[in-house]
Amino acid sequence: MKKAIIYDLDHTLFNPKTIERDIFEPVFESLKEVELIVDYDLAQFKLDFFSISSNALIEKYFNDRSKERFIQCLRNMNPLPKLETYKDGFIVQEINTINYLVTSGIKEFQNNKIDALSIRNWFAEIYIDDPIDVEWSGKEEIIKLIMNKHNYDKSELLVVGDNAESEIKAGNNLGIETIQILRKGIKAADVVTYKIKSLNKLKMIANQ
Ligand SMILES: [Mg+2]
Repeated sequence: MKKAIIYDLDHTLFNPKTIERDIFEPVFESLKEVELIVDYDLAQFKLDFFSISSNALIEKYFNDRSKERFIQCLRNMNPLPKLETYKDGFIVQEINTINYLVTSGIKEFQNNKIDALSIRNWFAEIYIDDPIDVEWSGKEEIIKLIMNKHNYDKSELLVVGDNAESEIKAGNNLGIETIQILRKGIKAADVVTYKIKSLNKLKMIANQ
């Protein structure tokens, strides 16, 4: 019987590709105005924006000055319209555990998504690992912090996520059982305790 579950957000509970693409037009417009992506085709930038990580995007297109501008655009975005989790997202609330959300990304943008999903009250605590406004060395440090703060033994926890190199690796390193949710297009991890295709399976794992 597990006491607590630590969840990832993107591609675990929420498919970021379901955000209406037009929402980002003001961000693209603003970058065009100040000629930040003058060396690149805006169409290619838009494709990359929806397919590669923020860090990879920044590295490919921006220098230090333009990076700031781009990040400010994301931080200052208007509230997103209502969003939905994956269909099995409701399972989170059906399991009798304390839940934590540990997600990576621009803090304001992650918070924007969390509010548009109306899932803030699903979690006892929410941690956002911002790659620019750095507070922790990564998810492993955040999970360790949760363990120490609440005195959890590693056997009482589960880490649920999609990314073999992020939360799954962090959980493995800390000796916590890890569960990889294999959403569409996600590559199976080599080292992980369980691999599941739907969060429905999680109930059984958490209760055993
Ligand atoms: Mg993820």
